[in-house]
Amino acid sequence: MIDSHFHGDSRTVEDYEKMSIGGITEAISCSYYPYEILKPSVLITHFKRILHFEKERAEKERIKLNTALGIHPANVFPKYKPVLDEIKKFIKQKDIIAIGEIGLETMSCEEVDIFTKQLLIADETKTKVIVHTPRQNKLNVVKKTKEILSENIDPKLVIIDHINHTVVDEVIDEEYQIGLTVQPEKMTSAEAIAILSNYGFDKFMLNSDSSYSRSDVLSVPKTARLLRIEGYKKNNVEKVSKLNVKNFFDL
Ligand SMILES: [Zn+2]
Repeated sequence: MIDSHFHGDSRTVEDYEKMSIGGITEAISCSYYPYEILKPSVLITHFKRILHFEKERAEKERIKLNTALGIHPANVFPKYKPVLDEIKKFIKQKDIIAIGEIGLETMSCEEVDIFTKQLLIADETKTKVIVHTPRQNKLNVVKKTKEILSENIDPKLVIIDHINHTVVDEVIDEEYQIGLTVQPEKMTSAEAIAILSNYGFDKFMLNSDSSYSRSDVLSVPKTARLLRIEGYKKNNVEKVSKLNVKNFFDL
């Protein structure tokens, strides 16, 4: 199985071990720095840690770690240009499989500006993007996010993440892939299964978004297991827990 969105740097080696025992063979670690960014080098060092140190930690537990790097909306800060230059370098060197996670949290002008600039880099370089949507004010932020996406990037490059039943109708007819985050503070396995049962399995990928928040590193295997218990077809379970991620990212 593949966990399509988590934050390896915030988890312990025991968590990597647990994921491996739970059947996760591959994961996508996204960038998010949990504290104030005082200068660009803080974020660049965070990126390099995920690229190198985390990859090694995961591989010791038999998990292939793919990396998505970008300026998270909670990490916006004024002098971000050197960070964008670094992201361009990572893309050129094929170090990352996506820019992410990026997006809007409060819809401030700074967030919109940095989000848009990263989308333009992605569109120009045909790089995939993992787009965050927040817990608060979700519907309005999803609407604004769609507006910005439609003006700045080929929708086929986009995963819109943390989608739940309150906003799924906003995105289901778009060309994006859709991330379902099963995490104690976001969505239960049962809620994810209700969405899959209503909207089908083709556009969705499961993830745990395991991070500094309360998380369950086993939420992808647990949801896949529940789907099997409830009698969903093996191929459909595989689509949302592995195949859709493989196909989208060409892994
Ligand atoms: Zn995340």
